[in-house]
Amino acid sequence: MDRPIDALNLGWRLEDSYRRLPPHFYTTLKAERAGEDPLLVHASGDAARLIGLDASAFAHPDFPKLFSGHLDVPGFSAFATVYAGHQFGVYVPQLGDGRALTVAQVRAGDGALWDVQLKGAGRTPYSRFADGRAVLRSSIREYLCSEAMAALGVPTTRALALVATQEGVARETYEPGAVVTRLLPSNVRFGHFEFFHHRKQAADVKLLADYVIETYFPELAGAENRYAAWFAEVVARTAHMIAAWQAVGFAHGVMNTDNMSILGVTIDYGPFGFLDAYEPGFICNHSDEGGRYAFAQQPGIGLWNCHALAQALTSLIPVDDLKAALATYEGQFRSELIALMAAKFGLASLRDGDVPLMNGLLKLMETARADYTLTFRGLSKAGGQAGRSAWLDLFGATRAEADAWLGSYLARLADEPLTDRAARMDAVNPKFVLRNWVAETAIRAVQDRGDVGTLDRIFRAVTQPFGEHPDLDEFAAPPPASMCGLSVSCSS
Ligand code: AMP
Ligand code: MG
Repeated sequence: MDRPIDALNLGWRLEDSYRRLPPHFYTTLKAERAGEDPLLVHASGDAARLIGLDASAFAHPDFPKLFSGHLDVPGFSAFATVYAGHQFGVYVPQLGDGRALTVAQVRAGDGALWDVQLKGAGRTPYSRFADGRAVLRSSIREYLCSEAMAALGVPTTRALALVATQEGVARETYEPGAVVTRLLPSNVRFGHFEFFHHRKQAADVKLLADYVIETYFPELAGAENRYAAWFAEVVARTAHMIAAWQAVGFAHGVMNTDNMSILGVTIDYGPFGFLDAYEPGFICNHSDEGGRYAFAQQPGIGLWNCHALAQALTSLIPVDDLKAALATYEGQFRSELIALMAAKFGLASLRDGDVPLMNGLLKLMETARADYTLTFRGLSKAGGQAGRSAWLDLFGATRAEADAWLGSYLARLADEPLTDRAARMDAVNPKFVLRNWVAETAIRAVQDRGDVGTLDRIFRAVTQPFGEHPDLDEFAAPPPASMCGLSVSCSS
């Protein structure tokens, strides 16, 4: 292997976990090396720490080589996995890691198992007619959003590094290519189970369920009803994740079952979007003409996807148990969302009338097209003179109604004195989310001007979303007129 003498010492405890499954679950292969001189654009110190790497490793000449596939991780055979999935409601019998390559599974110091995966490192047997590559623009979006979501407290895969391949990728035009290294608590998706179920390979469904339970749900491993208990847990985690999306105003954009993690973490950042104006019908994915994955559809689609998973598990779990677990979804989603929203409103306990009060504001925001993030961020100060007027400004022509709502809200708060209410609210209502225009600003800076400083400032803003950081104020703003209605599609 072509390793320099001072090779980067990863010090990883590798665990060849997924490849304990039979060979038809995956293909062992090497990355296709793109470009001659991979260049590290940015790396996340927080993500690195998860797998025992110190940020000092980023400067090592091996680092961009390892995290673009130019060097192999010593002692580990990289692989891609096969899965299937329902795409926009239609079953596609074979998908898979078409441009993702797992180059290590690392047992971290805290006991967590992380899949280290290169996204965009070339073709695999599951690439179908595509090239296995990723363009820089979508890689910047995935890199930033992974780390932003983690900082927001939303369950998510992480991003370790963004490496430019310095080679063109053919799309509508030639575009710069990149590789994102993501860290996944698991790469197993609903679609992995669907693949084997729909091929009538029930024994493989069981093998995969056993693997997932032993590896990720060890507390269930010995239980008599372990499969049913595990499925119920997957349903609960999915409801939890989607409640977190709704509270923070995140739309995933491609909630196909191949993009649903078995651990309930957000996975596969493509044409996602954060709400600017509050608009329940918000469609972030330009290719989603029917609005199947519109913002307000996400909770229902989460359940639809759990149904598809349940279908794939019918050989393993009695139908009554599957139905019982599915029946808990709505209640769990609703109670999680209400708890998250109560915290955003600064309510320590819920009383009669609180849900209508909260919905009252959302209705006004919808009418006024008030900015979702700014409205909640401003709420902790809306009781004071200056804060009130700035907050009401968000409502334009609906100002008087917003003022009336604020009156009843403040009266409700007066009933429940809390000394640290503002601080609590600011700790759950972000100032910075990765708005589309902000992501686009990062892309243009890097792509057009090689300006990594702007990317770094945006990274700092979205990974410290609850701080004030006045030097980063510009990235908290709603989209400037010139950057309204940017469209994002799947062609990445
Ligand atoms: P996505 O909609 O990005 O989740 O992708 C759906 C499927 O298409 C997955 O199996 C991906 O691996 C595959 N895919 C997407 N883009 C590419 C690409 N450029 N090369 C190979 N496979 C791809
Ligand atoms: Mg995908």
